[in-house]
Amino acid sequence: MTICLIGKNLTTLVLSKILINKGINVDLYYLDNNISKNLTNTISRTIGLSNDSIEFLESQKILFKKKCWGIKRINLYKDESFKSFLNFDSKKNSFFIASYNNFYKSLEVSIKKNKLIKFKRERSQKSLFKILKKNYEIIILGDTNNYLFKKYFSKQIRKNYKSTAFTTIIDHDKVENNIAEQYFTKFGPLAFLPISNTKTSVVFSVFEKDLIKNNSKILELIRHYNRIYKIKKINALKQFPINLSLSRNYFHKNILSFGDALHRIHPLAGQGFNMTLRDSKILTQLIKKNLDLGLSLDTVLEKFEAKRKNPNLVFAMGVDFLYEFFKFNNRYNMKSIDYIFKFMNKNLFIKNKIENFADKGLIF
Ligand SMILES: Cc1cc2nc3c(=O)[nH]c(=O)nc-3n(C[C@H](O)[C@H](O)[C@H](O)COP(=O)(O)OP(=O)(O)OC[C@H]3O[C@@H](n4cnc5c(N)ncnc54)[C@H](O)[C@@H]3O)c2cc1C
Repeated sequence: MTICLIGKNLTTLVLSKILINKGINVDLYYLDNNISKNLTNTISRTIGLSNDSIEFLESQKILFKKKCWGIKRINLYKDESFKSFLNFDSKKNSFFIASYNNFYKSLEVSIKKNKLIKFKRERSQKSLFKILKKNYEIIILGDTNNYLFKKYFSKQIRKNYKSTAFTTIIDHDKVENNIAEQYFTKFGPLAFLPISNTKTSVVFSVFEKDLIKNNSKILELIRHYNRIYKIKKINALKQFPINLSLSRNYFHKNILSFGDALHRIHPLAGQGFNMTLRDSKILTQLIKKNLDLGLSLDTVLEKFEAKRKNPNLVFAMGVDFLYEFFKFNNRYNMKSIDYIFKFMNKNLFIKNKIENFADKGLIF
């Protein structure tokens, strides 16, 4: 059995590795357009992984906790306030930060050695259509930048946040660095995500139109909100426009849309790739189950959609609600909300529920 994957990115590499681990062959097709340029763009990008996600990656020998930076506490702040209104504490590390590029490169090196995967470089969009004529039972599309995606998955729920995420790494004096912080500023959410005792990654998702054009003001604001670090240097800022997109159809015939192609969410909760990992777990279980029973894979995509569409929709809407809530709250400075947060912060039941939601997503 050979599964076809299209696109060469973190999503398809992770999925390939899980399939290979189950003894399934993979043909991975990609257009060699922008891979090295993309890696330059993602130099300052980090991926926050929940405990559940990292344990899944460890079980698949994809990424290990010791290669990531462990976070013991998450503090959330309202704009200029020095007191966090909500915090999540854990004696063990509860969240892990991985460098996007290190994760990508080490995974690529490890799976290239495997005989079950064949990398197939295509030169043109047209040649991707030829794949449809081959006899793959399942084709998984993990990339939006091609005609196949545009032809079969153009029906999307979309929202343009009119925001840009600025990412960078700050170099600072050595500190014990296991607390992640997020400020819901009046310009948009600003997160400080530690990656070592001397480096911290920053994600500033800015919705203020004039600020988006002003890099030096962005740097000034990062310095202004930073309360922990003695900054030595702020590295180059990278920019990513932010959208919400959710595919209305998960599959067309035997083609499945997957990863960011299937769902993109606002980065404020650091959950986009965690959603993809939850999908990967379910999809590969469904494939393996049919193969073990000697069944064809005809029903797998339908079952996958039935299992994942609602949880993904509700999860994405939950993150969108959070974004709109803080935007609204900052604009109108509603003091009564502070009482609700005070109550939530003291209520272990509610905090556990939120932690579970961020760790495992929604389980129906
Ligand atoms: C600034 C930022 C920070 C993120 N932080 C986290 C995190 O901490 N934890 C986590 O699980 N996921 C996070 N994500 C989502 C995660 O980066 C993607 O799911 C992941 O990179 C997909 O990797 P890929 O290599 O398969 O796709 P890529 O080759 O990276 O292609 C996906 C494309 O989608 C873009 N993209 C991703 N999300 C959005 C969005 N909402 N709006 C617009 N474009 C988007 C990426 O920048 C990229 O260009 C973040 C996304 C962004 C933009």
